[in-house]
Amino acid sequence: MLRDKVRTTTTLSINEIYPTIQGEGFLAGSPCLMVRFQGCNLRCPWCDQPTALVFKNPNTELSTLLEEIRSYPHKHIVLTGGEPLAQPNLHLLVYELVQEDYFVQIETNGTLWNENLKAVEDHIHITCSPKEVANWYVHPSVLRNAKELKFVVDESFSSHVLKRSEFLPFLEKGLVVLQPEGNKEKFLQKALKIQTDLLKEGYTLRVIPQLHKLIGLK
Ligand code: SF4
Repeated sequence: MLRDKVRTTTTLSINEIYPTIQGEGFLAGSPCLMVRFQGCNLRCPWCDQPTALVFKNPNTELSTLLEEIRSYPHKHIVLTGGEPLAQPNLHLLVYELVQEDYFVQIETNGTLWNENLKAVEDHIHITCSPKEVANWYVHPSVLRNAKELKFVVDESFSSHVLKRSEFLPFLEKGLVVLQPEGNKEKFLQKALKIQTDLLKEGYTLRVIPQLHKLIGLK
């Protein structure tokens, strides 16, 4: 009964929900349902989700959101944004999804954390994409839980960032993805050069353009 009450009294701010394939990072190619939250605490110069940046009042009841999610056959749910961890009630959605055996991926810029996720942190796949506009700051709990780090390679990106002490363990374990900004050729070449240079130093990292855009999906 309490759970029913939580479902009908909890609201979240949703930008859009749509089925697609995961186009970024280690899980690229997986069919997934994107749940995009409204509002982000950062402003990256090349952000490709401009309509999701401004914070707005919650517009969707948790029970309604769960019903919509269940209406799709997808078992891989991507919580993205905007910045999903800026949603104070995100953990209540994650609890429900984990309980229903969904594979839950959270795509975050890494600057925020929700302590209530501790109870389910072993059941979520966190993809952290540290951002230069945040001086590469990543919350320690995100670092502790992230399954991969994804860096957007743009004009100013340098491989020195990957050697920062907090990111080095990911580099050493092969858990770093370089994503050329906007799938632009010059940034693809830059990412490939970083990959080659680091390979000579004993590090293997992946270069993955935005697959969904390459194949014409949203
Ligand atoms: S963190 Fe993500 S959603 Fe926020 S401004 Fe940067 S790219 Fe856009």
